[in-house]
Amino acid sequence: MSPPRSSRPAVRRSLGAAASDPAGAQALGASDEPAAADSAAKGPLTLRQLDAIDVGRLNGVGSQRRKALRDVGVETVFDLLTYYPRRYVDRTAQLPISEAEVGSEITVVADVLSVSARRLRGGRRLVSAEVGDATGVLSAVFFNQAWRERQLTEGRTVALFGRVENYRGRKQMTNPVVDVLGDGSTADRTGRIVAIYPQSDTAGIVTWDVAKWVAEAQRRCSVRGIADPLPRRLRSQLGLISRGRALAEIHEPPSMSDRWAARNRLVFDEFLRVQLMLRSQRLAREAHELGIAHDAGGGLIEAFHRRLPYALTGAQQRAMADIDADVSTQRPMHRLLQGDVGSGKTLVALHALLVAVRNGHQGALMAPTEVLAEQHFYALRVLLDGFEVPDDSRLSGKRPLRLRLLSGSSSATQRREVLVEIATGTADIVVGTHALLEESVKFDSLSVVVVDEQHRFGVSQRARLRESGRDDRRIPHLLVMTATPIPRTAAMTVYGDLDVSVLDELPPGRTPITTEWVQGPLAAESMWAGVRREIEAGRQAYVVCPLITESESLDARSAEQMHAELVAGSLAGLRVGLLHGRLPPADKEATMDSFRSGRLDALVATTVIEVGIDVPNATVMVVLSADRFGIAQLHQLRGRVGRGSHTSTCYLVSDDDPTSIAVERLSALAATNDGFELAERDLELRGEGTLFDERQSGRSDLKLASLARDLNWVQAARDAAAGLIATDGDLDAHPALADEVDWFAGRRDPDYLQRS
Ligand code: ADP
Ligand code: MG
Repeated sequence: MSPPRSSRPAVRRSLGAAASDPAGAQALGASDEPAAADSAAKGPLTLRQLDAIDVGRLNGVGSQRRKALRDVGVETVFDLLTYYPRRYVDRTAQLPISEAEVGSEITVVADVLSVSARRLRGGRRLVSAEVGDATGVLSAVFFNQAWRERQLTEGRTVALFGRVENYRGRKQMTNPVVDVLGDGSTADRTGRIVAIYPQSDTAGIVTWDVAKWVAEAQRRCSVRGIADPLPRRLRSQLGLISRGRALAEIHEPPSMSDRWAARNRLVFDEFLRVQLMLRSQRLAREAHELGIAHDAGGGLIEAFHRRLPYALTGAQQRAMADIDADVSTQRPMHRLLQGDVGSGKTLVALHALLVAVRNGHQGALMAPTEVLAEQHFYALRVLLDGFEVPDDSRLSGKRPLRLRLLSGSSSATQRREVLVEIATGTADIVVGTHALLEESVKFDSLSVVVVDEQHRFGVSQRARLRESGRDDRRIPHLLVMTATPIPRTAAMTVYGDLDVSVLDELPPGRTPITTEWVQGPLAAESMWAGVRREIEAGRQAYVVCPLITESESLDARSAEQMHAELVAGSLAGLRVGLLHGRLPPADKEATMDSFRSGRLDALVATTVIEVGIDVPNATVMVVLSADRFGIAQLHQLRGRVGRGSHTSTCYLVSDDDPTSIAVERLSALAATNDGFELAERDLELRGEGTLFDERQSGRSDLKLASLARDLNWVQAARDAAAGLIATDGDLDAHPALADEVDWFAGRRDPDYLQRS
C-alpha cells in the first residue's frame, strides 16, 4: 500500500540517526517530550520536526504495531497527526436505547453482549448481535456479512446507525452501519465526538488504537506546542484557525461544526505547500533559464494561414497569440495547450513550429507512440504540402520546407540520413517519439519543442528534450499539448508551473456525436446492423477491444479473435482491418494507410488508436467491454469520430453485469460530450488519491483536501503563494514557510507533481 520511503533520505539524514533508527529511539527512552531528538530548538514544533519523530516512541507502539502502522503509511508523528479521521460519531447526540423510537433513524452506542451466526434456509448467513447500554438492549442483524461475527466480539463498544424496527416486540436494526469504538478497555468517551479512523484489517489497525496514539502524541506535543508558519495577518484575512488548534480539533472536535474550521486550515496548508513549491520552482527557472527570442510575425506565418482551407477558431487564435507572446521573449515558454479531442491542437502546434523555422531555427514535435508520431507526421505533411520557406542561397529565393520523421520503423540508412539533416539544420521540423531524446540526436538549432499527450513523459525526459543539442545552452521553448480534460482545480495544482492555453471551442460544422450504451445480445445485434448500414452508406467504423490485462500480447490476441469473429459474423463481406501494438511497424503503417484512404471499411483495434488518429470519414466508434475503461479514455476514443460533416455514433457496449460505478461512467458519457464536464464527474466518481498516477495514490500530497470540492481553497492558496514569494522565487522573508516547503519537497516522490 505504501511505497517504500526511499524518497525521504535527505530529511532523515539531516536529522541524525536517532530519529530514524528505532533502536536509537528506544535508547532515548519514552521521553515525555518527543522532540528531544532535535535538541537545537525548543520552540514550538515544526512539521519537519514532527516528521522526524518515529511513532515507535509512542507508548504501546512496539515493533509489531510499528510495522502495521508503516503498512498504512504512518511512520512518524507527522504521519500520525495527519492520519485523518474518515468520519465522526457524535456521542453528544447519542440516544439511550430506551429512548430509541421505532421507525426513527438514529445512532446508538452500546456494548456487545453476545453474537451468534447461523445459516438460513436458502443458504443465506445471518449474524445477530445483542447490544446493550445502561437503559436497554437492541439486536442488530446482518445478512450475508459473516465477518460481522468477528467484528462484533463480546465486550466491544460499537456505534450503530440505522432505522429502529420492531421485531417481535424487541428493538432491532437490520444491516446498520457499524463503527467499533473500543474494546471495553478504552476510556469511556461518552458525550464527546469520536473520530473514526481508516482501519486496516490486513495490517491490524483499529480505530481506537489510532485514537489512543493520536491523543498521546497530542499530549506530548502540547509541551512545546505546534508552530504556525503562516503570517498572522494572512491567517486572520482568511479566517483560519492556528495549525496547532486545527491538528487537535480535526481529531477531537469540540462540536461537529468545529471540525470544518479545523479542516479548512489543514486543507489550506496542503494546497499552500504545493503552490509555494510550484511557484518557487517556476520563478527560479525563469530567473535562470535563457531561451531564444523569436520574431513571431512575418510573411511565412501569414502565408501559412492564408493556405488553410478554413478560418481559425477564436480559441486557436488566442492560443497562437499566447504562444507568439511567449516565444518573442528570451524567457523559455513553458505552456500547456489543453484542448478537447478534435479542438484543433495540431494547427496550433504547427504554428509554433513554423515560428521557429521562420526565425532560422528548428522545431520538434514529439509523440508518445510510433503510431501517433506517424499520424502527426502525415497530418503535418498534408498541411505543409508544397509550402515553401525563404532561402537566399537559391535563385528562386525559396525552398520547400523540410519535414522529417524520425521513426523506429525507418531503416538504419534512412535514420542516419535524418540524423545528419537534423544535425546540419537541413531538417526544419522533425516529428518523432521519445527516440528524439536519445543522445545520438543532435539538433543544429532547436528552438521550439512541442510534446503531445505530455502526461506520458517524465520530467527527466522533458528536461533532456529541452537541452538537446544546443551549444549556446539556450533552452528551447516548450509547448505541451494534452487532450485529457483537466478539471480547473487540478490544473491549478498539478500543472501549477505551466502557463495554460485552452482550446475551449470546437471548429465549426462539427456534428455532435450520439452516444449509445448497448447492453445485451439483442441490442448488440441491432448495433452491428447499424454499423453495417453506415459502412454501406460509405462511412467507416472503429471497433475497439478492451485492455484486458497488462500484457500486450494477450490484448493483441483478444483483438485478433474479435477480428476473426466479426469477419465471420456481424461484419462478413466487409473489408475489416486489424491493428494492435504487437504488429510490425510496417504492417501498422500499411493498415493505417488503408483505413485513412478508405480501402478498409472497419478497423478492429486495441487502444493504440486512443489518441490522435484523424479520419473524418469514420463515423462509427464501437467500444467493446466499455465498462472496463475509464471516463477519460472513453472520451478520447469517442473523439476519433465526429470529425467530418456526417453525423457520428459512439456505441459503448458493456458486459453483462457492469459495476454500479461503471454504470455511472457510461451514463455520464451518454449524457454529455463536454470533456470538462466529464473530467469533473470523473473526479467525483474516482475520489481523490487516484487523480494522479495510480502508483502515487498511496501517498498523495492531498490527504484531506479534495480537488473536486475545494476549488476556493486552491485559489486562496495560489493567491497567498503569489503574495509570499518574492519575484525571484525566494521565500527568504518567511523562513518558517521556506523550511516547510523544503522539507515537503524532500519527502515526496521527486517526479510526483511534475510528472507529465
Ligand atoms: P486535436 O485537438 O484532437 O488534435 P486536430 O488538430 O486533430 O484535433 O483537429 C481535428 C480536425 O479538425 C482535423 O481534421 C483538422 O483538420 C480540423 N480543424 C482544425 N482546426 C480547424 C478549424 N479552425 N476549422 C475547421 N476544421 C479544423
Ligand atoms: Mg491531436
